[in-house]
Amino acid sequence: MEPLAVGHLFPDYLNIYADRGNIAVLSARAEWRGYRLEVQPLGAGAEISHGEHDLFYIGGGQDREQALIAPELASLGPALCEAFEAGAAFLAVCGGYQLLGRYYRDQSGEELPGIGLLPLHTVAGSRRMIGDVLLECELEPGARRTLAGFENHAGQTILDPGAEPLGRVVSGFGNDGKSGYEGCRRGRAIGTYLHGPLLPRNPWLADWLLAQAVAHRTGDLPVFEPLRDELEQEAHAVSARRAETRGGRN
Ligand code: GLN
Repeated sequence: MEPLAVGHLFPDYLNIYADRGNIAVLSARAEWRGYRLEVQPLGAGAEISHGEHDLFYIGGGQDREQALIAPELASLGPALCEAFEAGAAFLAVCGGYQLLGRYYRDQSGEELPGIGLLPLHTVAGSRRMIGDVLLECELEPGARRTLAGFENHAGQTILDPGAEPLGRVVSGFGNDGKSGYEGCRRGRAIGTYLHGPLLPRNPWLADWLLAQAVAHRTGDLPVFEPLRDELEQEAHAVSARRAETRGGRN
């Protein structure tokens, strides 16, 4: 089978809290199932051809880095949204998540343009929301799972009415510290505030994203054989315990 093509957006600017580790996990878990991941860095002026990429990834960053790349990312917006409509999967973390919405108004009050792929907008508040997070998710009906990670953001993300959150906050702040929800899911696109990086301690989500990428490439959603994820599950349990000892929603 052809390799799975991953477009890594602005990796030199948006890579806070080892978010690049998410790509390492996707590459390893793909290889363990007999797929090869080809990762292409996409920066200013990148060419994005129709159907070329099966998955796009964008990490987190401080307001400064976001301001540096937002106009260039917005110029790639039409091609990225077209790829989404054609079935490509997306994972966007924190600063990258914010820029997949309509806009991010940063702490200086500057409104950074987003690409409008996710139904939301974000406004930076005075309080930084920092700490371990535990979520309950149900990406597929009946498949209730937990996600554990670490958040550090001033941005308060407001989902549009009817938009699907990624999960319900069990412990932590989540999108805005008030709604009780975190992240956003739209079809094969996932946006979240969870760093850590996210995927090493949440292997089920890595496999879900890989399956979406394979489905884009082949037209069929694969059912992967389970891997021996003892280490990953222990990392998840440690992160979940830290979030739970932090106490309920803030
Ligand atoms: N700069 C954004 C905020 O403060 C995103 C931070 C991040 O990516 N960790 O909300």
